[in-house]
Amino acid sequence: MSNLWTCPICDKKQEYNIIADIVWETEIPGPDKYNVIKCENCSIDVSDPIPSDDVLNQYYSNYGPTQTDNLKYRAEKLIDLNDPIVDYLVSHHKGNSDIKFLDYGFGAGAFAINLASKGHDITGIDYSAQNIDQLNNYCRENNLNIETHNISEKGWEEINDKKFNCVTLFQVIEHLQDPVETLKKLNALQNTGGSIYIECPNQDGLFFRLKNKIRSFIDRKYMWGSLSPPQHLFGFNKRSLGMALNAAGYKVIEIGDYRVADKTHAPETAYWYPSIWEWLTDKKKRTFYGTSKMLIRLADYPSSKILKSGGGLFALAIKK
Ligand SMILES: [Zn+2]
Repeated sequence: MSNLWTCPICDKKQEYNIIADIVWETEIPGPDKYNVIKCENCSIDVSDPIPSDDVLNQYYSNYGPTQTDNLKYRAEKLIDLNDPIVDYLVSHHKGNSDIKFLDYGFGAGAFAINLASKGHDITGIDYSAQNIDQLNNYCRENNLNIETHNISEKGWEEINDKKFNCVTLFQVIEHLQDPVETLKKLNALQNTGGSIYIECPNQDGLFFRLKNKIRSFIDRKYMWGSLSPPQHLFGFNKRSLGMALNAAGYKVIEIGDYRVADKTHAPETAYWYPSIWEWLTDKKKRTFYGTSKMLIRLADYPSSKILKSGGGLFALAIKK
């Protein structure tokens, strides 16, 4: 009996090809077992099933990683750490003094706050009421102007008559139920030549490939590479991210990998992965967990520099 599957990224119909399973042993909203399907054409790794709206609402209603109360650094240092990426994106639009930015899935809001504090026009859209309240409160207290919208309510309708020069998705695309559909909706909010910038984990990263080999021993059966439903539902590499952008009406200008804590991409990783110096000077970092994070940071440098397979992926593309 043939079991056919259509890839949600490149649309190719093919055999249902399970390469791994993801198993939760702790209580989590939704199924406790997922299949990982690999597309023979674009090479994306996809979670099956894709969790329902209900499961995702439950899961994200109390999502730790974007709560600034729990993680004070996000509201403070992280804002300035976005300077390099802001400079990179602004320089791509040089000559335009009125760039309209849209940050899709702004999370803790550090990138949006950085832009607003420099006087840029920035709109933020997010799935989580918690993130929206948090950013609105911050703007009120600090006299900043950031327009926010809720995707799960009327966010899309509220912005669908606007046009944006630069759309950003930082560590967001891998969480979406249908990435290409979302990219198409974003594409419709741009004029030809408008840019989109994406960062996400690199499923081909050396660190993730090594981790897959030992995941049973280190109690990580709930992950396959960067895939960890109901959180990360898609594992992109350069090929599949490029094809997703193409399918949504974009032309890729630049695509590549980056290493954790490289000071430009995903600046929050500098906090998750201690440097050797921090590991040596801070006893609290010398746990098994802290030590393994330090080693990952150390090893990701040659992985990216020499093998071009660092743990992160970025892409800059323009609307065709
Ligand atoms: Zn595919």
